[in-house]
Amino acid sequence: MQIDIATLFPDMCETVLSESIIGRARKSGAIKVDCWNIRDYTLNKHRRVDDVPYGGGRGMVMQADPIYRCWESVCTERSIKPHCIYMSPKGTVLNQKKALELSKYSNLFLLCGHYEGIDQRILDTIVDEEISIGDYVLTGGELPALVLTDAIARMCSGVLPESVCFEEESHFNGLLEYPQYTRPEIWHEKAVPPVLLSGHHKNIADWRFAQSLSVTKEKRPDLYAEYINKK
Ligand code: SAM
Repeated sequence: MQIDIATLFPDMCETVLSESIIGRARKSGAIKVDCWNIRDYTLNKHRRVDDVPYGGGRGMVMQADPIYRCWESVCTERSIKPHCIYMSPKGTVLNQKKALELSKYSNLFLLCGHYEGIDQRILDTIVDEEISIGDYVLTGGELPALVLTDAIARMCSGVLPESVCFEEESHFNGLLEYPQYTRPEIWHEKAVPPVLLSGHHKNIADWRFAQSLSVTKEKRPDLYAEYINKK
């Protein structure tokens, strides 16, 4: 999987992408992520990427042309037209199912907006879909692109030790995860549930499933109802 992120702030993205599990996965080659500075594709002396909106109003709008040239460079470099996603509060709200679907692409191009957004004509020309990370507005598309990259990358082969690491987590099968415990056995007079110390795999699995059901029912009745209706 190759993810290319088009941004005005490549250093901001690199800082996050160089750390922890994603940083290690990039080093090992399990996933490739590169950042492209949209400003490098301007043709004007001041490397300006924005202008005032037609029709008036506050703020600035990112121009189509530098983004288009950046997109063309990525297509040429990868010898493929990557699936293009514009990070946008107007997009489909990200969930685990969508992240899994996107993890199947060989190449993704994530476009980060700023200011009041991006000239609609470039969106109409290159963007395949718009994705939002929630119903709120952020100052730029970098954090959403990083959230999306993380959610996708951890489901790519070789990023986590085994697929079971994400398959048993919250949201993968429509339920929230059971509670987790680690040492010590007793902490502040609170004991770990005895079944987890029993070594009896079937009983542990049954307990975890029952906990998953009850946690989902309590915290996310919407997900619980959906899960029960599907059964
Ligand atoms: N004027 C736009 C609107 O009302 O829809 C909001 C622009 S926002 C200040 C600047 C950029 O941040 C957007 O172009 C988008 O790339 C990104 N962004 C903001 N909120 C987002 C969200 N919830 N999900 C994904 N991207 C978001």
